[in-house]
Amino acid sequence: MSTSLDNPNQMLPVVPIRDGIVFPGTEMILTFGRQRSVSAIEAAQNAGKRVVLVMQRNPSINDPTPSDLYQIGTVGEIVQMMRNEGEINALVRGIAKVELTSYEAVEPFFVARVADVADVIEDDDETKALFNHLTGVLRQAVKLGKTMDFLTFMNIMSGMSPQTLSYQLAGVLDTKPSERQELLEINSVKARFEKEAAYLAKEVKVLELERKIATKTQEKFEKNVKEQVLRERIKTIEKELGDDDENKEFKELADKIKKAGMPVEVKEKAEKELHRLTQMSQYNPEASYVRTYLDWLVEVPWNAESTNAVNLSDAEKVLNDDHYALGKIKERILEFLAVMKLRSTTDEIPDKDEKSGKKEDGKPEKKGNKSAPTILCFVGPPGVGKTSIGKSIARSLGRKFVKMSLGGIRDEAEIRGHRRTYVGAMPGRIIQGIKQAGTKNPVFMLDEIDKVGADFRGDPSSALLEALDPEQNYAFSDHYLEVPYDLSEVFFITTCNQLDTIPPALRDRLEIIRFAGYTEDEKFHIAHDYLFEKQRVIHGIPDGVVELSDEALREIIRRYTREAGVRNLEREVATVFRKTAKKIAEIDTKDRKKYKIGPDDLQSYLGPTKFTSSLAEKKDEIGMSTGLAWTEAGGDILFIEVALMPGRGTLILTGQLGDVMKESAQAAMSYVRSRWKALKLPEKFYQKLDVHVHVPEGAVPKDGPSAGAAIATAIVSALSKKPAQRLVAMTGEITLRGRVLEIGGVKEKMIAAHRAGIKEVILPKNNKKDLEDIPKAVLSDLKFHFVEHMDEVLKVAIPHLKFSAA
Ligand code: ADP
Repeated sequence: MSTSLDNPNQMLPVVPIRDGIVFPGTEMILTFGRQRSVSAIEAAQNAGKRVVLVMQRNPSINDPTPSDLYQIGTVGEIVQMMRNEGEINALVRGIAKVELTSYEAVEPFFVARVADVADVIEDDDETKALFNHLTGVLRQAVKLGKTMDFLTFMNIMSGMSPQTLSYQLAGVLDTKPSERQELLEINSVKARFEKEAAYLAKEVKVLELERKIATKTQEKFEKNVKEQVLRERIKTIEKELGDDDENKEFKELADKIKKAGMPVEVKEKAEKELHRLTQMSQYNPEASYVRTYLDWLVEVPWNAESTNAVNLSDAEKVLNDDHYALGKIKERILEFLAVMKLRSTTDEIPDKDEKSGKKEDGKPEKKGNKSAPTILCFVGPPGVGKTSIGKSIARSLGRKFVKMSLGGIRDEAEIRGHRRTYVGAMPGRIIQGIKQAGTKNPVFMLDEIDKVGADFRGDPSSALLEALDPEQNYAFSDHYLEVPYDLSEVFFITTCNQLDTIPPALRDRLEIIRFAGYTEDEKFHIAHDYLFEKQRVIHGIPDGVVELSDEALREIIRRYTREAGVRNLEREVATVFRKTAKKIAEIDTKDRKKYKIGPDDLQSYLGPTKFTSSLAEKKDEIGMSTGLAWTEAGGDILFIEVALMPGRGTLILTGQLGDVMKESAQAAMSYVRSRWKALKLPEKFYQKLDVHVHVPEGAVPKDGPSAGAAIATAIVSALSKKPAQRLVAMTGEITLRGRVLEIGGVKEKMIAAHRAGIKEVILPKNNKKDLEDIPKAVLSDLKFHFVEHMDEVLKVAIPHLKFSAA
């Protein structure tokens, strides 16, 4: 190819190009839009088709002057041209490198005189080597991903002159416009080659780097994809093999269902639920409810039970080992166990049909009559050993023991569970207790059945009855479980503080065993022989380190506690050990000393005494009498105070008295009014005086009719101004005419009187029979007066009272 002009020094139209160079021997499509350029091209097209293409020094200049243009450019030939909305697209071929020597015109386009600039074309080895090197490196670059016109590449590869190659390369290298201009302006092919070799080497490096980065990214990407694919595959395989987490759980559940020993219908239900669960998406909130339900179903003991051998002599031994006194109670329990044993071994025991049969006289038999009621009920104040006897029964039978408190339950669902549709539903306390026991035949203590109430949410006591009644509890239905549960082998024991509030239907089924409370002496032995040792072990104190003298123990019983049971006593003993444990921990262990605790040391362990003045230390007072009461906490003594004030015979009652007690105070008052003459009381006092009856310790609600005699005594004492004997305690209901009627709770009251240091007790004559049950120590310390009429009471209680002869 020729790269020189046939006519040097000619004048040609000049077209400025913003940032491109058409090298000699190369072709390029250019778009011309500027008016001056369009005119130049059009002019060229009409005459010789040649233009000078020169680059602007600064591409952003819109309307360049000659000084804005480089001086070296290319003469190009317009090969093809196309007008397009004021623009011109033209294929231009580079012909020769020229220098613009002078501008001859600027309007309507630049016209310049140009001079040929010829290249030096070296023919040395170095140039040849560079030639070969450059074609090789270009090939490599293309391989590495250099983009270039395929035809140009093929042309280069198929061979061309060094000069052409140098311009072709200049056109395809990745260079800046100024670098291109530089390449154009170099007049030695070899020098151009050298520059191009440097550019190409850089380009290859960049390409290599790009490729490296690309492969790394690719690898990383591929690795991620691979892992994901593999993971998916593992999942599918596990699913196929039935091995994934969910399936594992289902399998475990299925296994548990199999092993739970469920009755057929329960098993069917469980399997149905499990199937439902497997069909559910694990994101379905219901799935967790079904899971919880299944967990309950498999964990409730359907089959597990303790051996159930009743050995009476073993049982007796256990009861005696664990408990001091309580002789009658132990006897009753042994009898109960004996019956239980017989019933489980004898065929003669009437079966269910016979039980509901008729008696000879044709009347339907009272339910549960023939089969003795099977639910024990321990009645008594707190701390008298109800729970502890229950535990011993379980131990003697080799069964598990569970205790559930029913105190404050008002909702049937607490007993029988909530239906599963209810949010947070759970089985009721019966099933909860059974699960806790883990066997189907535990000794199950239901505490505080007297504190079960009924309201709009249903009657818990009827649900309770269903659970306890041996005739229906073989299929106890819990709303949550939905399947019947057999409670017939459970040994239920109920406890309560009083019987009054238990619904009659339930009460009918109970075999009542009363725990009356302990005398001071019994408490002493319980503390000495059981509680002391128990608390010593609990507090980790070595045997023999603490010695609590008998006097100190009695002092604790008398001055630090006042209760029917031994709960507070146990607490005080625990305090002694706790304080000692602290002392032992504080000093050097080698130097272990003994702690001998006598009555005088108690203050430092237990603080000041809680019940200071005993009755014996007080004085007899006018208008005050000593009564005996029975409360949920056991028996207690109670003082009645009467004050007189000017008025009109109004009876004022204070001290939290219940209705029945108020009525009995009214009756007492009426009796006194009607007897004022015989008792030599102030004449018609009820027209001039108000009578105020107060029963102190108002925080404890008091009720019942049995304080009548004591109230009447206090009123008479106040009116007659003769003191009543404080050490004579009395109990008895009185009528308007002064008859003294039988009352309840004698045993508890006598123990309380004894505890308080009372010397004589006045009791209704009809209660004489109740003395049988009372501990001997109490009987021998008290003097009893049995009375039928109030006058007899007054004679004993107010010795100085004078009766009129009439
Ligand atoms: P309750 O259930 O009647 O409220 P507990 O059974 O809890 O009473 O008894 C309270 C504490 O007194 C327990 O530590 C118990 O072992 C103990 N206790 C009660 N009575 C006796 C007794 N007769 N012999 C030995 N310890 C007894």
